[in-house]
Amino acid sequence: MRKLLIFIVLLFFTNLNLLAKENNHLQNTLLVSNKLTLTFRDKIKSVKYFTIKKSGVVKHVYDIKNAILLSGKTIKNIKANGVKSLRIGQFNKNTLRVVIESKYSLEKKHRLKNRTLTIYLPVKTSKQKKVLYKKRPSKKYFHTNRRYQKLIILDAGHGGRDIGASNKNVIEKDLTLSMTLKLRDILKKMGYRVRMTRSTDKTMRLKERTDYANRYKGDIFISIHVNAAPKKRTRNVRYEGITVFYLSTRNIKKRLRKRITHYKSKKRYSKKASQQMISQWKNRRSKRLAINVRKNILRSLRRHYSVNDKGIKRQGFWVLLATTMPSILVETGYINHKRELKRLQNSNYQRRLVEGVAKGVNSYFGL
Ligand SMILES: [Zn+2]
Repeated sequence: MRKLLIFIVLLFFTNLNLLAKENNHLQNTLLVSNKLTLTFRDKIKSVKYFTIKKSGVVKHVYDIKNAILLSGKTIKNIKANGVKSLRIGQFNKNTLRVVIESKYSLEKKHRLKNRTLTIYLPVKTSKQKKVLYKKRPSKKYFHTNRRYQKLIILDAGHGGRDIGASNKNVIEKDLTLSMTLKLRDILKKMGYRVRMTRSTDKTMRLKERTDYANRYKGDIFISIHVNAAPKKRTRNVRYEGITVFYLSTRNIKKRLRKRITHYKSKKRYSKKASQQMISQWKNRRSKRLAINVRKNILRSLRRHYSVNDKGIKRQGFWVLLATTMPSILVETGYINHKRELKRLQNSNYQRRLVEGVAKGVNSYFGL
């Protein structure tokens, strides 16, 4: 009996602990026109909506279960049309409460989808609502995560019919995808927005990858690859280790003119886009990104492995050239080096490597 009691008490405490760990924090708050969007780290389980009426003012209350504010401080500085006050605060240990005070009633119900809760703020009249929508809505980010305002484009090298480098049954496209997916998860956990040129095994031309990055206006672009030593080279060259590339501007203008129509597309890039691709600003930033990423990969891996550093190099790779944002390409190791091949297939090694990349991103942004 006593044993059972101890067991129950233990169970109770472990559960409490789990709950605390599982608490889902608010990552970002965005207001566009009368649409308030709250984004959380994980999926939201339930939201309870009710109103409190008091002397002509209606309080619209949303209780979000199992959610917390990381800062712990109530957010009050959100100003919106037709709203007297708007607060987001911690109601109790695991309930986050949004209170909207307004004279007006709500026209639309809130929407809950995975990690985001969309609340439609009360608006004055339907006439005013139209005016509100006619104006170009201004985006306002509030509070929390500055990382959320950064969009990172990840590019897993090769894919589909293009298998990349290979060694027996190990192929580059699988390794790059596996590492890039891990990197995506880490960056998302850190609070960044992430998009991937491919998240499955599909064929993608290089131009499609850079067009994708430019279309979504990523803040940075990171391409992940696995290297292969050329077959004909002499034996005494040490083909092992990690290399981080950024764009080489040698003959760049000539190359840009030549290659602009290279990838089966007759369309030329706009003058502005081509200028962005080879701008000094992009070049400086790409270099800084490369420096930070290289340093952090080595730091992360060298805690557990001895790794060869091949340093930072410059190349005119298409993905580095045709992106309009700072961009790097990481060669994570050599597929035809015995030790590296083994490591690159190891999930822990992959994780430590991409953790280094993610930390490099943090220090690049100073976040
Ligand atoms: Zn490759």
